[in-house]
Amino acid sequence: MSACPPGKATLVGAGPGDPDLLTLRAVKAIQSADVLLFDALIDPAILDLASPHARRIDVGKRCGRHAMQQSAINRLIVREALCGAHVVRLKGGDPFVFGRGGEELDSLRIAGVPVEVIPGVTAACAAAASLQIPLTHRDTARSLHFVTGHGSDGGVPAHDWAGLAKAGGTIAAYMAGRTLPLVAQNLLAAGMPQATPAVAVENASRANERRLFGTLADLPALLAGAGFTGPTLVLIGAVVGLAEEATALERLAA
Ligand code: SAH
Repeated sequence: MSACPPGKATLVGAGPGDPDLLTLRAVKAIQSADVLLFDALIDPAILDLASPHARRIDVGKRCGRHAMQQSAINRLIVREALCGAHVVRLKGGDPFVFGRGGEELDSLRIAGVPVEVIPGVTAACAAAASLQIPLTHRDTARSLHFVTGHGSDGGVPAHDWAGLAKAGGTIAAYMAGRTLPLVAQNLLAAGMPQATPAVAVENASRANERRLFGTLADLPALLAGAGFTGPTLVLIGAVVGLAEEATALERLAA
């Protein structure tokens, strides 16, 4: 039996949803894929860029509804690539920002599969661009902190809350839709002012994008009543206050 010709894998950052935010390199990779593995945050219009002959495999995961275990996804990418396919693993945002891309990369390396990584626009950058909130700003925010609100045990991770509060930068909280009350509680207990501006953005960059402005003290309750069910990112910090006019309008509209 002859061995399969060697395949390869590409971990592709598909950005926050809007196909216009794909990189050219991502588009080329998608077009040349034999097999596409995609998750629940990938817009169908992005899948339409692939050849009609490409096999599309939905490995979609949304919080609480695991379609496929991460370990099974890792094995699947490796298996397809070892059979000679160009496997494109499409991941929302950037593959290396809370995307578990590192675990997929490890599996591919161990199996000796050639792998390329293509960066994508991460949700924090997409939300900031959409709301016209600079994530860093001279004198206002000199650092930017990407944190997850969702630990591997389902609770809030034990971040260095005091360090975050003291840094005075912008906090971009991923996967914090449900845990925002605890995130806010920890930051307030660490001394971050109650009036610190904060905004929750659901479906950033998509036609159904929604925003909810508030403060560190009141955003958790506002968000709980807002019924956001799509992917939601929370930005916390003085830069959010730079969008003051928008804040006033959103509050009026709420
Ligand atoms: N790798 C992704 C993040 C995956 S973790 C990236 O770089 O963006 C999933 C979390 O990302 C969601 O819970 C949400 O917090 C955030 N997210 C992803 N897409 C989003 C979008 N379009 N709008 C708002 N938040 C988004």
